Amino acid sequence: MIQCPKPIKIDKLKKKIAKLKEQSEKRILKLKEQVKKKTKKKISQPSMKTLRDTAWRLFSKIVRIEEKYICYTCGKNLQNDTSNCHAGHYVPRGKVSKLRYERKNVHAQCVNCNKYMSGNLSVYAVKLEGQYGMGILQEFDTIRKEEDEIRKNKFHSKPLDRVTLLTMIESYKKQLLELEK
Ligand SMILES: [Zn+2]
Repeated sequence: MIQCPKPIKIDKLKKKIAKLKEQSEKRILKLKEQVKKKTKKKISQPSMKTLRDTAWRLFSKIVRIEEKYICYTCGKNLQNDTSNCHAGHYVPRGKVSKLRYERKNVHAQCVNCNKYMSGNLSVYAVKLEGQYGMGILQEFDTIRKEEDEIRKNKFHSKPLDRVTLLTMIESYKKQLLELEK
């Protein structure tokens, strides 16, 4: 009697196919896992610039809402024209990191005062002294000098590091939620 070898071969092939399928599924899962990890890393590690921009976007909104979109230096009411209401610095934002997000140094301003009059600083100074007292400009200057000293040391840590910025962003988000209630 002659036995037919065919069923055995087919079984073997089926097993092989199943094994290959299992292997490729495992590989796909592994690749998916890698993609997930990389995406996660990207999301949890935004650049310092992104963090600074986010912090500024939130902070400047808080300032404008708190001051009801009224220009600090000329009194113009921009409640119906909020896109033309800026948050303007007395000490320019690029100069001193700590003063960039210092509430006393940032106030609502119309485009004209902030942009075309470069901050309208003579009026700004008078307003600041009226609100916070005569020592306010000296206070800003002390902060600026302290930061200059830190910068002279080449091993200095950045005044606003990642953790500080992340903490600020969280706190600003909470403040905004409260303000927009
Ligand atoms: Zn103005």
